[in-house]
Amino acid sequence: MELPETFLRRMQALLGAEFGDFLESYSRPAYQGVRLNPLKCDLDTLRRALPVPLISAPFSPFGYYAPELRKPGSLSAHRAGMFYSQEPSAAAPVTVLDPKPGERVLDLCAAPGGKATQIAGLMRGEGLLWANEVVRERANALLSNLERLGVRNSVISCCHPQRLCEGLRGYFDRVLVDAPCSGEGMFRREPEGIGEWAPESPAACAQRQRRILESAALAVREGGVLVYSTCTFSREENEDVVAAFLREHPEFEPLPINVEFGRPGFDGLSRRVLPMDGGEGHFMAKLRRIGENPCRVRRFDRALNEKQSRPARALYESLFADPPDFPLARAGSRLLALPGELPALGGLGVLRAGMELGEERGNRIEPAHGLFMSRQKAQCRQALDFSPEDPALAAFFRGEEIDCAATGYTAVCVCGVTAGFGKASGGKLKNRYPKGLRSP
Ligand code: SAM
Repeated sequence: MELPETFLRRMQALLGAEFGDFLESYSRPAYQGVRLNPLKCDLDTLRRALPVPLISAPFSPFGYYAPELRKPGSLSAHRAGMFYSQEPSAAAPVTVLDPKPGERVLDLCAAPGGKATQIAGLMRGEGLLWANEVVRERANALLSNLERLGVRNSVISCCHPQRLCEGLRGYFDRVLVDAPCSGEGMFRREPEGIGEWAPESPAACAQRQRRILESAALAVREGGVLVYSTCTFSREENEDVVAAFLREHPEFEPLPINVEFGRPGFDGLSRRVLPMDGGEGHFMAKLRRIGENPCRVRRFDRALNEKQSRPARALYESLFADPPDFPLARAGSRLLALPGELPALGGLGVLRAGMELGEERGNRIEPAHGLFMSRQKAQCRQALDFSPEDPALAAFFRGEEIDCAATGYTAVCVCGVTAGFGKASGGKLKNRYPKGLRSP
């Protein structure tokens, strides 16, 4: 691996005596990991569905090293949303953010969704996770990942940070800025990124990071928490960005980070993870807003009358044994389940609020893939359950019909975890696995 000379010189100045260990890390393979999705499965189930060694990682209670994992995206456990494939130390910023069920949490730079799905797992479906991504195609990937992991209490938007945070001023208990950066911590994992790095990259990124942080600050309520993170090593993009922000914002104070992993940053307050600490590399700082920030955000207007919500309720009750545990809504022909907590959404680039239940087509309703992904097998009135290696499951993921003795909409599960659905009649299950997700 050919590393840029300027990068190496700077790292030597930064790390001093540890530079040798840092350099040596490039002769070893990058850390591979998975993060279990507690919304859909437990460790026993994941171990049954994913036949590779999983070794606990220190950055999150749900994080594991998985050195033998190959092509995770093609595995049925992945399709069922049992895990998110993630470099282990990438879980560190959300552990520091420490989101709780029932809170309002903003992930401002969220795609493809590693940290947003981790936040969702910790919120256990309660409260509101607002996941924003400014680049449209990346926002679509974010949406798909949140759906795969069965998240139902999220809003997904594609909005410029300034506009979004002005619109939601003072609204959030916790805000994560996992900022776009020069990616120095990704060189081992994605060597093609080395070519995109230039000596000027850290300074250019730092300017953008300062602008994003300025916006993010608006969205934090008084007493709320702001976590800033990057996956790069340069001081310029890390401690220096935070120091400049704190100089200009006396209404924020740094908070100590009480974790076992990594090491203190160069300011003694932030936290760093280096390749010598068991992860590819991450930086994080935790701040609290101590100054007031009145919130004038209007609540979402839930004026949905009983008659309008009846088809959504009927659909839900025809598929699942328990009553819906979320407010219902309708957007044109689409039926939705909304998060319990929701602000007015206009002008904020919202791609989806809550979860799609289904779509009215003439006088019938077609259920949505995301609805089944967010439910447990035990809730489904009808389900087929397969082992990960079952050829029928592979056929289902290719979009083929499979045998099924039942009649009507039926969940398809892997080791007891929902992965999709189909409509059964005449001994066959007509496939409803989304075309864009099918395997070749
Ligand atoms: N948090 C994500 C995760 O864990 O999967 C990774 C986020 S990545 C480090 C940074 C994101 O910021 C990218 O998706 C990028 O498209 C987005 N971004 C780029 N420029 C931006 C800007 N000016 N404002 C906000 N976000 C930006």
